[in-house]
Amino acid sequence: MTDLKVLIRQDEIAKRVAELGADITKDFAGQSIIFVGVLKGAAIFLSDLARQVKLDATFDFIGVSSYGNRPSPTQELKSGWDSTGEVKLTKDVDQSMKEKNVIVVEDILDTGLTLTFLKKLLAAHQPRSLKIAALLDKPSRRKLPLEGDYVGFKIPDEFVVGYGLDYAERYRNLADICVIPRE
Ligand code: 5GP
Repeated sequence: MTDLKVLIRQDEIAKRVAELGADITKDFAGQSIIFVGVLKGAAIFLSDLARQVKLDATFDFIGVSSYGNRPSPTQELKSGWDSTGEVKLTKDVDQSMKEKNVIVVEDILDTGLTLTFLKKLLAAHQPRSLKIAALLDKPSRRKLPLEGDYVGFKIPDEFVVGYGLDYAERYRNLADICVIPRE
């Protein structure tokens, strides 16, 4: 598995993340934010994005997994994967989000199932505002009508790794975002 093709270089990522940080800084001027990172893929994006936001901020993390029929990594690569639509919480946030400005930070917006689930879950906390920051977006894969508020790059339906994203837990530490060709 060495046949990786660079899709987005690290300098392009850094430039875009700085732009998103500036947008958030402007939109929430004078206010505080809680960044809620979705484990594990968003960890690197969150740490870079948060440092580009010049506001009072705290971090929290949430964990999810999909029930049922997630295929093996090899099948996932060949045909993408379609979950049953059931998302399971594996780690809840540690603090109340009531009356807070919450930005959910996700690596990639694909079918929209995960973020639809998380939005509903976090909305129950009655935050002051609830936004989504997603580094990547594959609009052609969407099953539920959901848009990110702060989106880094729209990409085609390819399987990507790097900058936090994995293939069987590997490649998260690549500095660039790369495509694993489906053959
Ligand atoms: P959604 O619920 O929007 O379909 O799925 C979002 C999750 O699917 C992401 O957080 C990520 O874990 C996984 N995912 C979707 N597309 C890709 C991809 O191209 N590469 C990797 N590594 N994970 C992906």
